[in-house]
Amino acid sequence: MKKLHIKTYGCQMNVYDSDRMQDLMGAVGYETIDIPDGADMVIINTCHIREKAAEKLFSDLGRLRPFKEKNDKMIVAVAGCVAQAEGEEIFKRSKIVDIVVGPESYQTLPDLVGKVIRDKKKQINLDFIPDNKFDILPESKAGIGASAFITVQEGCDKFCTFCVVPYTRGAEYSREVSKIYDDARRLADKGVKEVYFLGQNVNAYHGFDEKGVTTSLAKLIEKIAEIPQIERIRYTTSHPRDMSDDLIAAHRDIKKLMPFLHLPIQSGSNSVLKAMNRKHTRQDYFKIIEKLRHARPDIGLSSDFIVGFPGESDKDFEDTLDLVHQIGFTQCYSFKYSPRPGTPSADAKIQIVKEVKDERLARLQKLLTTQQTTFNQKFEGSTMPVLFEKKAPKSDSQLWGKSPWLQSVVVAAPNAEKYLGKIVDVNIAKARPSSLVGEITTTS
Ligand code: SF4
Repeated sequence: MKKLHIKTYGCQMNVYDSDRMQDLMGAVGYETIDIPDGADMVIINTCHIREKAAEKLFSDLGRLRPFKEKNDKMIVAVAGCVAQAEGEEIFKRSKIVDIVVGPESYQTLPDLVGKVIRDKKKQINLDFIPDNKFDILPESKAGIGASAFITVQEGCDKFCTFCVVPYTRGAEYSREVSKIYDDARRLADKGVKEVYFLGQNVNAYHGFDEKGVTTSLAKLIEKIAEIPQIERIRYTTSHPRDMSDDLIAAHRDIKKLMPFLHLPIQSGSNSVLKAMNRKHTRQDYFKIIEKLRHARPDIGLSSDFIVGFPGESDKDFEDTLDLVHQIGFTQCYSFKYSPRPGTPSADAKIQIVKEVKDERLARLQKLLTTQQTTFNQKFEGSTMPVLFEKKAPKSDSQLWGKSPWLQSVVVAAPNAEKYLGKIVDVNIAKARPSSLVGEITTTS
């Protein structure tokens, strides 16, 4: 068999895409290895959200050069959002690259590889063809555990001024309900207990059902919840503008939908939200959270924050801290703003200096860590159902799982195999800032 090495950057959607590329190439005789040395093909699946993403790609390619020199038949492919954004430029800057393929056309990879071998010519495909992508992808063989991702939606029409996704992933596209249902059934038959719906704007989902009627994310969740073996459903990433009443009601009515929601707001200041083109206000966000907590009082909330967005004043930043204080988050992602080439805010005149961004991020993260720790401490002494997915990274006699609120839970388990892939009650003994430590109840 030929050897394939894939290096993946970025979000869960990129991880999903890399798994699918592995499936595609597996079907034409490639097996995956962990290092580039000895590989017949290397794919770098890039993320444009990373700071200086293109520069980092070219550094990676520089490190790959000796392997290509050792084996000039090795095929190097650049995939993902940087491939989409940089296109032909990648060939100009790195002679070792054979294939450039975008996130909406990677289903053509085996074909592109065939052409490279046969015609000895570099290949590029940056087409937006998502509807045919999912039909072509082979059934997944990679990484089937207790929890699995299913892409239900791709792309974005929102055009936030800091974000490259609408340019690299294209317009919003939703897969048909029956195809997602078939995926979920297949996964359930393989032992999957939790499905995680993925989409750049997942709650804008509007796929067709078998009668050709548009279906909301809430209805899709209801349908998948009918599969008996699927015990947990989650979805990410959502936009406040698409947080519809039926989706909020689903958090009340569908017990398999976990009590956790990642709902990015990015800033607590209305003027910054306007400059970001988010098309909602902080008041809109408060209203959504109020409705969600009414529907599901124990819901845990998470968000993304960008500090130091161009023009962000001290008062704007204080508004963000105030919003965080008022909402109380269970976990969050926070970043310093850094311009992404080609986005409107990259050219904004008033950029915030690094020292101010550093100081604001440190203050925000301190507050968020305190909130996360406080949330976790609430569970000390309680019992909760945990889905055990794998052995803990540093010990074979420890198991790692997820709580309903997406907390990491670690337990000592000398007989680990007995509990792997199962949902088991755990007594929580200790809360750490980013995990819980417990023991399996003796009745389990
Ligand atoms: S909604 Fe999300 S994916 Fe779409 S432009 Fe805004 S940040 Fe990017």
